[in-house]
Amino acid sequence: MSLTSLKVAALAGDGIGPEVMREAIRVMRAIEARFGLSFAVEQAPVGWAGIDAAGKALPDATLELCHRSDAILFGSVGLPDRDPTIPKEERPERAALLRLRKIFGLYANLRPVRLPKELAYSCPLRPERQGDGLDILVVRELTGGMYFGQPKKTEEVTENGATFKRAIDTMVYTTPEIERIAHVAFKAAQLRRRKLTSIDKANVLENGILWREVVTSVSKQYPEVALDHMFVDNAAMQLMLKPTQFDVLLCENMFGDILSDEAAALAGSLGMLPSASLGAQAAGGLTFGFYEPAGGTAPDIAGKDLANPIAQILSVSMMLRYTFGLNEAAAAIDQAVGRVISSGLRTGDIYNPLDTGSRKVGTTEIGTAIAQSIKA
Ligand code: NAD
Repeated sequence: MSLTSLKVAALAGDGIGPEVMREAIRVMRAIEARFGLSFAVEQAPVGWAGIDAAGKALPDATLELCHRSDAILFGSVGLPDRDPTIPKEERPERAALLRLRKIFGLYANLRPVRLPKELAYSCPLRPERQGDGLDILVVRELTGGMYFGQPKKTEEVTENGATFKRAIDTMVYTTPEIERIAHVAFKAAQLRRRKLTSIDKANVLENGILWREVVTSVSKQYPEVALDHMFVDNAAMQLMLKPTQFDVLLCENMFGDILSDEAAALAGSLGMLPSASLGAQAAGGLTFGFYEPAGGTAPDIAGKDLANPIAQILSVSMMLRYTFGLNEAAAAIDQAVGRVISSGLRTGDIYNPLDTGSRKVGTTEIGTAIAQSIKA
């Protein structure tokens, strides 16, 4: 990999965004030092920070930087108390986030949920259901299915003299759409424990039958990955009953929306959860990716050194793995996070006062500890 290709647009955004981004960049510098790499990280405003700097949530210069980059490392945007009069389509969540997703054709959403054993108390499940800790990856198709299928409308109908409204959403998937997300999931499974559970509703939906057929056919190219299929209702139940059975879950858009949030709840804090949204292959063979924490701007704790930067830091690890193919460097970040958690450092969201081996620390202290652990 040539050093000049590691181009990253770092868009911190609002609220806790700048604080957690600072720690993520600190970790990137530690990775550079340890692995002899060089990231070209350029920062630019987005969200309310974009409106303040250049009059719009996604300033032209920020978008231009994204186009020049291989990956976007995103913080979060939106401040509910700022200017309620601004039109919906100009608010940061829509004007920046949804626009970026659309412009870069981000079709694959990856949400890992990891619960280290030491944080068992922050999981809503009883300890005996958590095994040696949880480690699940939800791969969600992001641009198809019921959320986008046409026709999509509400109409007025009259039947037998009665007039009422009828809402129509359409679930549509094509073979190529299912194939490309299946490849993402199988490739992700190859980097993990090589087990893939494909979620569908093949007992009721035509889409489910096609989904199962196509995923099974793609699986022939990945003989080392064990594939099974599960109906979505059973999957929702199994996530609560025996989450340790899952490695990678492959879902269409709506099922993935629901199951990824259910799985996220198992980790106990939004501050621990990164995510990746991948686009089509970019020039030079790299997969363009958008990497962000699962949580929002957390205005209640912003600017107080209270935010957990781990979600943002693990977003860097995902970026190294899925855009740059730097699996060893990505693993170094994951392991450093694990070591720092084992050492007992905790931000407020994952702190348990009954755990006498732990110590409550701020954003900067835990970020610095993770960076130092990488260099060591
Ligand atoms: P939120 O995720 O910002 O906060 C929910 C709760 O989780 C809060 O108590 C917060 O303190 C806590 N939390 C979140 N991240 C944390 C972290 N890293 N460390 C410690 N605690 C953390 O959700 P919200 O309050 O509903 O939304 C606030 C703003 O963020 C809204 O404007 C919303 O639209 C926006 N938002 C943006 C994104 C994004 O940019 N992708 C995602 C979700 C919400």
